[in-house]
Amino acid sequence: MNAIIIDGKLLAQKIKEKLKREVEELKKHKIQPTLAVILIGEDKASQKYVSYKERTCKELGIESIVFRFPENIDGISLSETIEDLNDNPAINGILIQLPLPTHLSQNVFLEKINPIKDVDGFTPYCLGRLLTDNPLFIPCTPKGVIRMFDEYGIELEGKNVVTIGRSIIVGKPLALLLLRRNATVTVCHSKTKNLKDITKNADIVCVAVGRPKFLTADMVKDGAIVIDIGINITKEGKVVGDVDFDEVKNKVSYITPVPGGVGPMTVAMLMENTVYATKIQKSQ
Ligand code: NDP
Repeated sequence: MNAIIIDGKLLAQKIKEKLKREVEELKKHKIQPTLAVILIGEDKASQKYVSYKERTCKELGIESIVFRFPENIDGISLSETIEDLNDNPAINGILIQLPLPTHLSQNVFLEKINPIKDVDGFTPYCLGRLLTDNPLFIPCTPKGVIRMFDEYGIELEGKNVVTIGRSIIVGKPLALLLLRRNATVTVCHSKTKNLKDITKNADIVCVAVGRPKFLTADMVKDGAIVIDIGINITKEGKVVGDVDFDEVKNKVSYITPVPGGVGPMTVAMLMENTVYATKIQKSQ
């Protein structure tokens, strides 16, 4: 079977072009969308993600301000920074680059972000809004995955969808979004037994585990759709996903590549959330 490769890069480019025009329009009304990013420590991957977000903001005319702190920043200083950003009317979006150092509780600090500026959608308020079918900001990665299905005309209603991974960032919100589209959703994780038996029955498999070649060809049925959310760096420095792409692509009907799949869509959705945050704040 010749799988259709879902081109996240191209789709993200289309979305960014539209957003760029929206930002230009806002600027005509003297409104400057602005994203604040809090980056703590020296984690290489986090630094790379933040610089990619900064570059994309620039491309779109969104102002980004990165607040860099040493690994040993104390909780009080971090809280004060978040509160200052909450109170600053020039800041439309606030993002804390995860993971945080172990002495800082992710839940405690995410909860401090004003939900109206929560462009990552990770505050309990935004996640609760999603759970109660009244979303405000939807987490960027799962939002990007759903947008890919829509753009490629992939119907979700009644489909048997398996997600592997149940994190707050990806797996759980993705499962909620799929449910909202009337898919029948099975959420798998590290304690799931007989994973292959479950994935083999799926019309769509979404993988967010963080292990190269985790999903192999024998785990999917012919003609299935595979969404690879994983980002892993090999010893050789190559970026790969969680799917054994070369083998799985011969069996499925659609598949996302890594790089060039979900990753660019995640950043495009962050930009979309930031523009949306700006608009709702200015209309208040
Ligand atoms: P987490 O480590 O928080 O979650 C990983 C999930 O995988 C957990 O739910 C875990 O189960 C599950 N898991 C681990 N081992 C197995 C196993 N053997 N069988 C079944 N399930 C297993 O990671 P994230 O959700 O934050 O990220 C997942 C991947 O997605 C990473 O590679 C990350 O880099 C990538 N990512 C990509 C993004 C993008 O833009 N493309 C954005 C965000 C993340 P349990 O809950 O039981 O521990």
